[in-house]
Amino acid sequence: MGKTYTIRCTALNENFASVFSFNNATFETKGLLPGEKAEVSLLYGKDKGRAKVEKITEISEERINPVCPVYEKCGGCSFLHTSYENELRLKTEVCKKLLSDFGEVADCTGMGENSFHYRNKVHATLSLSKKGKVTSGLYEETSHQLVPVTECQIERTEASEVMKTIRKFMDDFRLPPYNEDTRRGTLRHVLFRISKTGETLVCLVCGTKIFPEKHRLADEIVKKHPFVKTVILNFNNKKTSFVLGDKDEILYGPGYVTDELCGIRFRISAHSFYQVNTEMAEKIYTDAVKLSGLGKDDTVLDAYCGIGTIAMTAAKLSGAKEMTGVELNPAAVRDARESAKNAGFTNLRFIDEDAGDFLSAAIGADLHYSCIIMDPPRSGAGENFLSAVVKMKPEKLIYISCNPATLARDLRFLAGKKYKAECIRPYDMFPHTANVEVLCILSRKPAAGSKN
Ligand code: SAH
Repeated sequence: MGKTYTIRCTALNENFASVFSFNNATFETKGLLPGEKAEVSLLYGKDKGRAKVEKITEISEERINPVCPVYEKCGGCSFLHTSYENELRLKTEVCKKLLSDFGEVADCTGMGENSFHYRNKVHATLSLSKKGKVTSGLYEETSHQLVPVTECQIERTEASEVMKTIRKFMDDFRLPPYNEDTRRGTLRHVLFRISKTGETLVCLVCGTKIFPEKHRLADEIVKKHPFVKTVILNFNNKKTSFVLGDKDEILYGPGYVTDELCGIRFRISAHSFYQVNTEMAEKIYTDAVKLSGLGKDDTVLDAYCGIGTIAMTAAKLSGAKEMTGVELNPAAVRDARESAKNAGFTNLRFIDEDAGDFLSAAIGADLHYSCIIMDPPRSGAGENFLSAVVKMKPEKLIYISCNPATLARDLRFLAGKKYKAECIRPYDMFPHTANVEVLCILSRKPAAGSKN
């Protein structure tokens, strides 16, 4: 250990990293709670501005023992060293700091007693241990080293049950996992989608085209775990951080699972985006309709609509006259259309296009939406999209964000264009991890005496 310095953590920043001041500069580190004192060593090079905790010298009363044995290594969770109540307080604080300029920020709504085992999308990577056994887990946060995980605290338990079967099958048949460097082996990842009732999609991602045992493995999974409703083989031999390749082969079942949200059944395929926490998604969508006062006279655009969950739940709960969803991913649009048809909606349409391009064209065609719902990726709404929004002048905006920092940036832009936040509510969609979802409802406030 080189030279260490004694510092005190003052707060968490927008990425939920621990921050402290030192020599008139702000540094960030991992795992310290506000108020805690520690000895740290400073990092350099590409990690300049960051520090490594060597020893905590003053421990916060809020610190608890993490429930997970691989917590420090894995990097999937960030709040297992404190109580859930305190985690919610810290998430509220971060949201308030970022968003208070735009209106009152409510306390973060949490999951209550059952804040574990909620993740309905699970991804496991396969590797060979030093002893030659098949292991599965997640890559270490800072390296390409696999951290074996047999029981994750935030994932649905169906996934760990099936992974046990897959690991055993591969060991029994002496099938080594795919190795990115040698380009040999078979399976490299397994992706799961799990519905509220436990219906499970298993997607086996294989690095080689030839996998003769594929049907036998699918049979074994389905026989041992009747909750598995479909098994897909996906081919991906690229050196990439993307889990899935483009090619699928259905080995069993229909190739998708269905899940129910607000009484509507949704079709979810391996390639589509679906909120990872079904219970909280339902809560946030219901609140969005209630708090925005969306009603039967509204014509609505759901931008970045994914498989159409918000569009359909909002159409059902509000009775809105017309609802259009726009989404870039064709697989998600197909899922949305299919679910809308099965649910009997006749006033809904889904369009496979860039949200900004679609809205600009809609303005060109003299269309008007009274409400625009937007739920963009972490990078926030695109500039061309937001510019088109303010040009169209919808009376209401419902912004659902998974990144309060880009939400703040976009709210600043909208505030300058007469949109005022009526309500800002954080929801803990991702308990125990460094993420938070925020619902923001805005209305257009023309200046007194002005025509628009
Ligand atoms: N509203 C959905 C999905 C939100 S995730 C839900 O709650 O389930 C964000 C979605 O935006 C993803 O499905 C992604 O494919 C889509 N997306 C990303 N960039 C886009 C763009 N420029 N135009 C339209 N959709 C986009």
